[in-house]
Amino acid sequence: MAIDFFRIANAGVQQLKPYQAGKPIEEVQREYGLKQVVKLASNENPLGTSPKALNALKNACTAENLARYPDSNGFRLKAQLAAKLKLSPQQITLGNGSNDVLELIARAFANEQHSTLFSQYAFAVYPIITQAIGARAIVVPAKDWGHDLSAMLAAIETDTQVIFIANPNNPTGTWLTQHALHNFLHQVPATILVVLDEAYVEYVSEPDYPNSLPWLADFPNLIITRTFSKAYGLAGLRVGYALSHPDIADLLNRVRQPFNVNSLALLAAENALDDGAHLQKAIELNQQGRAYLSQAIESMGFSVIPSVGNFICVDFQQDAQTLYQKLLQHGVIVRPVANYGLPQHLRISMGLPDENVFFINKLARCL
Ligand SMILES: *Cc1c(COP(=O)(O)O)cnc(C)c1O
Repeated sequence: MAIDFFRIANAGVQQLKPYQAGKPIEEVQREYGLKQVVKLASNENPLGTSPKALNALKNACTAENLARYPDSNGFRLKAQLAAKLKLSPQQITLGNGSNDVLELIARAFANEQHSTLFSQYAFAVYPIITQAIGARAIVVPAKDWGHDLSAMLAAIETDTQVIFIANPNNPTGTWLTQHALHNFLHQVPATILVVLDEAYVEYVSEPDYPNSLPWLADFPNLIITRTFSKAYGLAGLRVGYALSHPDIADLLNRVRQPFNVNSLALLAAENALDDGAHLQKAIELNQQGRAYLSQAIESMGFSVIPSVGNFICVDFQQDAQTLYQKLLQHGVIVRPVANYGLPQHLRISMGLPDENVFFINKLARCL
């Protein structure tokens, strides 16, 4: 008799919908018989990996090196991050991407008896990890596409263990000010963890965007997560980290897999961190790309949610899935966000200047 594995799986997992990733370039080339395909779907760095990191990787790919387990504690990367951020290495938890760290937090602090809290339109990983551990998600309606902090405060319940806040938020690109977030932290009960997901922090230049690092000293329940996947151009290698109170880091360290960050990822992150010039180039390119794309799309009559990230979210006032499919046929991969409850929006990552122009030309033809 066939076994119904869905029935014996954990209740939360049965209900889970898999994360929808951006389509890989190769897949679109294959399916549509296209040579030139531009991917503006996953908020990656269009400049690619830092040449410094790439060079280190090439030298490290020896039979002898790759046969060894990585440094389980990521000593060198933690030391480097600690020096740069003026924190102690004991405050750092490394992850296989920051997604890994987000999951460690959920697994270490929440279970079936608990709730996690986050905003409508917030990053898709928060509901996924919440459901996977069998916790209940409290989803707070957004305000102007962004986080409504006072509504989030009011929505806290006695079983709430973790609050997730993406600043800026993906997929909307909205962001919270220093003042608003600091106020919020003051009002959240000290036993509830506040996870500030700063995956795009390097791109933000707004003067009232928070420097959250000093808050770690005042709010032991604050966890900041960051990543090498976006501005540092290492999405394929998977490295992210959390900054927290050392006791929280100690707990996260207990739940993680012993070798959750591989040796090439560690090495690449160390070198990428050292390549300030490459990072600066990526930031400038992003600013130009965002201005160009926003302006071009707005002049076609569509509204762009103001974004401080390396992507924009656009209301195309039509079924976005159809437009997405048309763009695929023309060799452009963007990201539908219907799974976020935004069926008329598409999220578009900044590409290289010629990729952005390519996209705008194809978009004009698809509309
Ligand atoms: C891309 C992204 C991440 C980072 O994911 P990684 O696992 O580090 O690649 C985290 N949070 C948000 C909001 C993101 O958009």
